[in-house]
Amino acid sequence: MPQLGDAIPSYVPRRRGDTVRRMTPPRIILVVVDTLRADYLGCYGDREKLTPNIDRLASLGVRFENAYSASNFTAPAVASLFTALYPVSHGVYDFRIKKLPPLRLMELVAQNGCVRKAVVDFGFFKSYLGRSFDDMESLTDLAPNWSTEGPVVETRRAVEWIASHKDEPFFLFLHISPPHAPYRFPGKYYEQITTGEKWRRTTELLRNHAVLGGLFPVPEGDRIPDGEIERFNRSARAIERLEVQDDGIGAVRDLYRMEVRVVDEMIGVLVGELERLGILEQTVLSVSSDHGEELWDHGSFGHGALAMHNEVIRTPWILCCPDRIPPAVVVETCVSQTNVLPTLLDLAGIDLSGVPAARSVKPLFAHPAPGASAKGRGDSPSVFSDTERWISVVHGGFKLIAPSKRRRFPTRAAKLRHALRRTKMMLAGNDRRGIELFDLRTDPGERKNLAGRQKKVVSALMVLVDGYYKTAELASVGGTDLSAAEEARIRKELDGLGYL
Ligand SMILES: [Zn+2]
Repeated sequence: MPQLGDAIPSYVPRRRGDTVRRMTPPRIILVVVDTLRADYLGCYGDREKLTPNIDRLASLGVRFENAYSASNFTAPAVASLFTALYPVSHGVYDFRIKKLPPLRLMELVAQNGCVRKAVVDFGFFKSYLGRSFDDMESLTDLAPNWSTEGPVVETRRAVEWIASHKDEPFFLFLHISPPHAPYRFPGKYYEQITTGEKWRRTTELLRNHAVLGGLFPVPEGDRIPDGEIERFNRSARAIERLEVQDDGIGAVRDLYRMEVRVVDEMIGVLVGELERLGILEQTVLSVSSDHGEELWDHGSFGHGALAMHNEVIRTPWILCCPDRIPPAVVVETCVSQTNVLPTLLDLAGIDLSGVPAARSVKPLFAHPAPGASAKGRGDSPSVFSDTERWISVVHGGFKLIAPSKRRRFPTRAAKLRHALRRTKMMLAGNDRRGIELFDLRTDPGERKNLAGRQKKVVSALMVLVDGYYKTAELASVGGTDLSAAEEARIRKELDGLGYL
């Protein structure tokens, strides 16, 4: 372990009023678990408590109770994560990224001498994030048979890399895609962690279910049968419209829960390695997701289509650095995905003053007593989530979902589905503009649309939405065009994943 004064440079926070503390060398690990919704984790209240490793991490650091994705699917959400900008400013609204937002925060990481490594599940990250890393490995490079135990391979690769770089300043981005459907861990992982009658009934139901059995095959033995992933992807659009009965919904939720449980095991491997190496105390470790997943909470399955309810846009965010963060702090103030990277850099002592958009939320948790709740600390921010179809704002305990001003539909079918949903809402007596309003303090499940009755609240939140669009600085953000060859490569990969 290098000491102060060794060849490794030391880093001193430069913000006025900060306690001057050195972190030598800064180590930052950003784990993004694709499609992980908050409420399936024990520390977020899941009664089955199947995530002991993530729960323990929360007890060692800070857990954000109300963290929101900046969008409802991967491409805009990850762009927000790395730029600290909302979609309206970085301009990434789908996977066919024409303009690449500048990644100024990652430039700061480089300027502070960190070696930058990424291990990611999706190869398309290389196109818009690859230039910000010294090395980015995607699962396609690591495990050609990615449908089976790729995430396990990724985690192993990440911990090996950490072990060989532990004495250097580093930034590691680990992106793992379970519990993104299709559920693909081999059955042997499930079998190691689950037993009992409930699981037997779940698997039996899925194997015998006329529709779900094909879409959600129960993994057995060492691998998922060939072709299952492709079959799921081909059917992905159909799943969004599938009418499923309660027992089928329960079975799919059980499979999702199993995926979350295996992800938790991998987080345990990562944390265990940091402890074995003796660097957990001085490592800024963040675990969050890009967005959540609807499991028929509001009548459909998936993310990125119609859904802006909390099962899709409320994400977990846990931050651990025992040397700098008191244990077991819960922050209840709403925070955004755009706060994640600035906060990690701030904790590592990297000066953010050159990136005006960067908002660290370190003041929300920096000084409370261990175990304290940070409820009410700081102001009451407005947190936005934005897609080409919907925009949502959470403010003062209320959440508004309104049609996007950028509204575009990729297909005629998507437009028709949207029209159908809006008609149903109008028939149900809700706001004619398709606006939904929920009081999250009394209705966290977003069951009771108050838009028709609370018109003053709707108007006030619509002012915030107008402000969101007005403050967009798309023109000033600029970007880099993708080459035609690069765009063709991305399209091919996305097609293979079932996105196009
Ligand atoms: Zn995603």
